[in-house]
Amino acid sequence: MSADKIPVTLINGDGIGPEILEATTRVLEALDAPYTWHRFTAGLTAYDQSGDPLPQVMLDDIRHTKLALKAPLTTPIGTGFRSANVRLREEFHLYANVRPAVTLIHGGKFDDIDLVMIRENTEGLYVGVEHYIPIDDDPHAVAEASGILTRSGCRRISLFAFDYAVRHHRKKVTIVHKANILKKLTGLFLETAQQVGKAYEDKLKIEDRIVDNTAMQLVMNPSQFDVLLTTNMFGDILSDEIAGLIGGLGLAPGGNIGKDAAIFEAVHGSAPDIAGKGIANPTALMLAAGMMLEHTNHHHLAAKLKQAIAAVLQQDKIRTGDLGGTASTKEYTEAIIKRLH
Ligand code: NAD
Repeated sequence: MSADKIPVTLINGDGIGPEILEATTRVLEALDAPYTWHRFTAGLTAYDQSGDPLPQVMLDDIRHTKLALKAPLTTPIGTGFRSANVRLREEFHLYANVRPAVTLIHGGKFDDIDLVMIRENTEGLYVGVEHYIPIDDDPHAVAEASGILTRSGCRRISLFAFDYAVRHHRKKVTIVHKANILKKLTGLFLETAQQVGKAYEDKLKIEDRIVDNTAMQLVMNPSQFDVLLTTNMFGDILSDEIAGLIGGLGLAPGGNIGKDAAIFEAVHGSAPDIAGKGIANPTALMLAAGMMLEHTNHHHLAAKLKQAIAAVLQQDKIRTGDLGGTASTKEYTEAIIKRLH
């Protein structure tokens, strides 16, 4: 192992995970990215093998490397173990979820999308405080869930978002909330974000918008948005909607950033409907690897990767099925590697 290489915990996952992770590491190796991989498997596959979707050895490794590239992990719906993704974010206090969306394929409905969703990643309705209340012979007669937001958590994500916006030469931050109905829960988020924002008013335009209106405005006139700052569940939902504006989940990367670590992944899940067919689009995970290159100050390599992806999609017109093309994951990956040489 070369001393100047950066160790990265590489987390294999479920469904299309192994296919897109292999494609992404091939591209990083073609780029000569200065990483050395510590390989682990998590999610349903790990659960079936060891009874734990997040093996302790892998968590210990992330504590050491502070950096991970992760394939999607399946979460059982309704029953079964708690989301390994949510647990990972909690374990390493990955409080900021950064999800950029940029138009890569021109000629569609929207040609100029360049948005960044910044989502609070550890609080809100995803804290897992929920239970049933039985009545008579129905054990599930009532379901109750609590959303929990703290002023310190709201302040931390707001500071992150405004600093990010300034650092990336963004012009505007839109605080997205539902403080008309959830007056205390998302009211605290709005109030705190506005207070934090006061120190940035000379550098940024700061506005706020109710989440349902934001959802509509995003499909009517997305170019009015720049950076969006919101709570956990609204950010989860809106980022899939935003992915839809740029051609789908196959093109949407994300980073989970905290004090103790940074974990990069695609926005999408394990896509079990297409797993094992060799047709998954690996671009989202490749772009997440590009975010990791930027995070580790390899901006030149990140730019080279993004240029190669753009050239293959736009000039070579080699695309996977989700983007209307016929290329397999392997053919698409090889086209990118060719562009890198
Ligand atoms: P999904 O994102 O896996 O798939 C939604 C749709 O998009 C499917 O039709 C799928 O085929 C398509 N799609 C997604 N990624 C694609 C790609 N790279 N190339 C081509 N098509 C792609 O969402 P889902 O089906 O709701 O969830 C499946 C599982 O993934 C669930 O267990 C869910 O909990 C999990 N999940 C994990 C993560 C994560 O690991 N961060 C994120 C979201 C969902």
